[in-house]
Amino acid sequence: MIVVVIGAQWGDEGKGKVVDLLSDRFDIVVRYQGGHNAGHSVHVGGKSFVLRLLPSGIIHEDKICVLGNGMVIDPKAFFEEIEQLEQQGISITSERLKVSSRAHLIMPYHRALDHTSEERLGNEKIGTTLRGIGPAYEDKAGRRGIRVADALWPEVLRRKIERNLEEANRIIVLFGREPLRSNEIFDEVSPLIERMRPFVCETADFLAKAKKEGKRILLEGAQATLLDVDHGTYPYVTSSNPTAGGACVGAGIPPHYITGVLGIVRTYATRVGEGPFPTEMLGEEEHIAHLIRQRGNEYGSVTRRPRRCGWFDAVATRYAANLNGFDSIALTKLDVLDELDEIKVCVGYELNGKRIDHFPASVHELRSVKPIYESLRGWRTSTLGIKRFEDLPKEARDYIEFISTSIGVNVGVISTGPEREQTIIVKDSVVEEWLNHLKTLETAFL
Ligand code: GDP
Repeated sequence: MIVVVIGAQWGDEGKGKVVDLLSDRFDIVVRYQGGHNAGHSVHVGGKSFVLRLLPSGIIHEDKICVLGNGMVIDPKAFFEEIEQLEQQGISITSERLKVSSRAHLIMPYHRALDHTSEERLGNEKIGTTLRGIGPAYEDKAGRRGIRVADALWPEVLRRKIERNLEEANRIIVLFGREPLRSNEIFDEVSPLIERMRPFVCETADFLAKAKKEGKRILLEGAQATLLDVDHGTYPYVTSSNPTAGGACVGAGIPPHYITGVLGIVRTYATRVGEGPFPTEMLGEEEHIAHLIRQRGNEYGSVTRRPRRCGWFDAVATRYAANLNGFDSIALTKLDVLDELDEIKVCVGYELNGKRIDHFPASVHELRSVKPIYESLRGWRTSTLGIKRFEDLPKEARDYIEFISTSIGVNVGVISTGPEREQTIIVKDSVVEEWLNHLKTLETAFL
């Protein structure tokens, strides 16, 4: 059994809670793309953990976690996160944390290049996390990247650093920064790689064997569908493929081994950083954005930057559902909308006076579209912690059904609060099938 969990919008859909809930019932949790730019906050047993690089399953000591070949790994951030978790009482050994020998490394010059590349874009900057993730993926595609397996050979690591730095320094100097020294980089990175050696694994082989043994594997997407480098709002995207196809490539798992894909959808939309956001609440709707931000704690989990808030966009989310082939969705943060009189859903766009129903590829078009809204009545009563669908107010049930119909996927799970038990399992066939696989899952939810 292999399930992929993917954010359907621009991220921060509340994936942390759902993945944590699920990962409890899986044997292995895999990340397949991105780097230490994820930002899950997971609350377990009265403790809060912030995970950037490692899969959320790491908190449960009986789980094995895998960093797949599709990731870019900063060795310094890797050990910082391990040390942080160990200080919080989590034991992390090479028995339960595996790093792909084919994953790429983020080097100190990637961080410097991330800064220069954003400076170069000026007003059109992407709003990256400046952690070197984009430049590491550029090197991967440019066939200059340094993979974990290469770095295990000190002479190869030294040679590749020297060669790459020559080029990187030209750009770094051009932007008025101090050039970096290859021997300093080697001296910084080399001991970390040595420390990483026991964790390194042929992860695709490991997962193939685990699958044969009947182990349950959860593939955890970071970022989200509309930030996918191919399918998202390019160029305001991440540098990898969070979508379901990316899960196969980035973990080394054949597509037909995937049992199902669960989409995480929030009852409204948010976006951090730059980039088009058709349903953003601006002007007269600013106060609604403010209310949602307060109720939903919509501030960056690391930076505390306020997130841009907007109405649910059915066009964008239907696009995400089709791209990923969602079998079911987990709808999060229903309770955040409890105080609204009216809730709008974007059901189409108007572009140059004509209605369109697809999600445009061009950022220029996405910036020009006018959302076409349908208005639904708010429920104006608390749904916090409700555990049964039938106990929800009628307007909330109508809203959920409207979302489900407009994106063409059944809602299997509804989240009515940040806590694990504040969850509704909707009786739909897909989730039931998974529940049969994962016999104890239902009791964990209810
Ligand atoms: P993620 O990266 O997708 O997990 O998103 P974040 O960690 O940035 O945001 C999720 C935040 O929302 C966390 O603080 C969660 O505890 C909280 N959260 C998750 N689901 C719900 C929900 O249904 N209702 C409320 N009020 N908060 C939720």
